[in-house]
Amino acid sequence: MTSALSRGGGADLAQVPLSALEHYTYCPRQCGLILLEDTFTDDAATTRGTLFHQRVDSPGNRGRGTVRTLHALPVWHDDLGLTGICDTVELHADGSILPVEHKSGRYHPGGPADIQAAAQAICLEYMFKKPVTTAAVYSGIDRRRHTITVDETVRARVLDAANAVRDLLSRTHTLPAPRADSRCRRCSMASDCMPKLLAGTSRYQQALHDLYRIDDAQDHST
Ligand code: SF4
Repeated sequence: MTSALSRGGGADLAQVPLSALEHYTYCPRQCGLILLEDTFTDDAATTRGTLFHQRVDSPGNRGRGTVRTLHALPVWHDDLGLTGICDTVELHADGSILPVEHKSGRYHPGGPADIQAAAQAICLEYMFKKPVTTAAVYSGIDRRRHTITVDETVRARVLDAANAVRDLLSRTHTLPAPRADSRCRRCSMASDCMPKLLAGTSRYQQALHDLYRIDDAQDHST
């Protein structure tokens, strides 16, 4: 007999880490730096995040009242090629399942954390073979839980992000261009990415091209 949680021989897709969905949604270049160049730089925010996660990064489960809480639960979806680890999954007595993604920073409605939490819900649906229509993001700064409805819109965003990350993985080189916008101020990868310098590259190349351009008319006249 096959367990509800056993892995099947699903589609032959490159596996996309759920964390990559969040990184890609925040900035495709950030995702590329991490996946293609194995670059990750800690700053104050990521260090705070690591410390914040310590409690939920240890596998285990505990029951309180009508809720059983699982920590650091591996999840996957073979058909969609998704894999990752849930910080926290609550199994409620009424049969409902709630993944809770923990973030040390502020919550941004509709932001990258929503995509990661929704992807966790989609994986849990696949594993437990029952609908998971709600996910949550716990913000350490807000000190509260933000609930997300896992509707068709957010599911489509998860699939789009997964396809985009898979496409990025297939390139093996050629990082997406830098955003060079307000996101870069909060990005731990800025020193590796050098967004302002590289964002100016095309203008620099154009200037160089213009400087040394051999005018056609002049060329033909010689
Ligand atoms: S510094 Fe900006 S462009 Fe570079 S990875 Fe971070 S957010 Fe993206």
